[in-house]
Amino acid sequence: MRIARFSIDGNVAFGAVEGESPPGSTDGLVLDIIKGIPFADFELSGTKVPLSKVRLLPPVLPNKVVAFGRNYAEHAKEMGGEAPDAPFAFFKPSTSVIGSGDAIAYPSFSQELHHEAELAVVIGRMCREVPRERVKDVILGYTCANDVTARDVQRREKQWARAKGFDSSCPLGPWVETDLDPSDLTIQCTVNGQQRQLGRTSEMVHSIEDLIVNITEAMTLLPGDVILTGTPAGVGPLSVGDEVAVTIEGIGTLTNKVIKRG
Ligand code: MG
Repeated sequence: MRIARFSIDGNVAFGAVEGESPPGSTDGLVLDIIKGIPFADFELSGTKVPLSKVRLLPPVLPNKVVAFGRNYAEHAKEMGGEAPDAPFAFFKPSTSVIGSGDAIAYPSFSQELHHEAELAVVIGRMCREVPRERVKDVILGYTCANDVTARDVQRREKQWARAKGFDSSCPLGPWVETDLDPSDLTIQCTVNGQQRQLGRTSEMVHSIEDLIVNITEAMTLLPGDVILTGTPAGVGPLSVGDEVAVTIEGIGTLTNKVIKRG
């Protein structure tokens, strides 16, 4: 099931996305409004609205986004290093999250914004110290993410709080796909329709199981928390006016325009 979060007539709701649409379009898609929330047992209301009539919101509001760095060997190489032996995590704050169709606001303190297309894992239940064999039980589903990075600031500052945590630096969406084997999916990033990144999730150095075992050794994850699993090679610059799109096989396309921060 594809679960979207959206606003309609000033109200926020979750809905199951039904129907098929051409790539990059939402034409023909309909939302069946969910009674309740997707983190507990819920029912479909049967009340349907065309997706084109609503504003999509970030599919979840995470308490925290835990992002893993250098988890594809070719990307680690282009950054001038090797993939780490153990996973290493950093945070993106809840205020960095935006949805598909929202604008990435280019911050004034950077001259080098980069896209990083990533598979995002959405946590479905509160958990800690999750054993490998239980990892699948704590996952609600998967969505597309862009770990937008101020690369110049990342090089300059030892902690990445500003470089990777500024407002609008974590586009998520367009929805959460709950029925998906994430182990070998095509992951792609285009800028203004030109391909920049193309990889497969099977190229991850540390698997989704490794990442969730690693982070839950240290902290509790809450329903709606998001894990970013690293980016394939091909990261590169974004400019004001660009349209950046992350597409993951079996999920959909996350599209955002870059604007100057007002
Ligand atoms: Mg990243």
